[in-house]
Amino acid sequence: MWSFVHGDIMDGGTRQYLRASLGLCPRHAWGHAVVEIELWQAGAGARGGHQPFDISVLNEDLLEYAAGELRKPLSWLHPGMAHQPAASRSCRICGELAGPLPEGLRMGYANSNSNALALEANELAFTTAWCRETSSTWFSRACPRCLGNDGADPLALCRRHLAAGGPVSRATGHAIADRLLELRQRLLRLLDSMTDHGKPATAAENAAWVEALGWFAGWALPLYLTSSNPGS
Ligand SMILES: [Zn+2]
Ligand SMILES: [Zn+2]
Repeated sequence: MWSFVHGDIMDGGTRQYLRASLGLCPRHAWGHAVVEIELWQAGAGARGGHQPFDISVLNEDLLEYAAGELRKPLSWLHPGMAHQPAASRSCRICGELAGPLPEGLRMGYANSNSNALALEANELAFTTAWCRETSSTWFSRACPRCLGNDGADPLALCRRHLAAGGPVSRATGHAIADRLLELRQRLLRLLDSMTDHGKPATAAENAAWVEALGWFAGWALPLYLTSSNPGS
């Protein structure tokens, strides 16, 4: 089911599908990251593996797409409001799972159910290390609603909490788009750091994949993994 993780992730049809679905559902978006980071053992760049390469390839594309949508007007009837990207297709992995499950498949990765997470957090050594190492960068940018706080600043919200708050002005849409494009630039530099001749990533660049997934899929997993003693 994770066959798209390597290789064909961004062929034309896959790209169109993943744009229409705005990536994967929260559980599978983070599950995709966990699978890649935990299981990918040999790669280029300073770390040599256990790094979010395909996650970054997918999310830099989604960030550019979402920023483009946010710069459009909501409709000709509402020219003063911004168009918010919305998923018109369902999560591709959820769709595949409607069929029979392969034997022995672990289904709990990145489930937002905290009991399931606690059981698995011990196994998520590399993902946990990434989230903790970068948390001083991303924590202040995490969605306040995902953190369980009040917060109405649309620039701070993940896309789901943004959409739940209703329409925003064109100016706000442009400001959010600018924020997403800045994030995309850091993600592109992180991708470069994972290639043979790329420069090592900075702290802000290392945090970019967490921020991108946080915006698209919510912040439950990194917040959980960086809370005190997850899994113990
Ligand atoms: Zn899904
Ligand atoms: Zn949120």
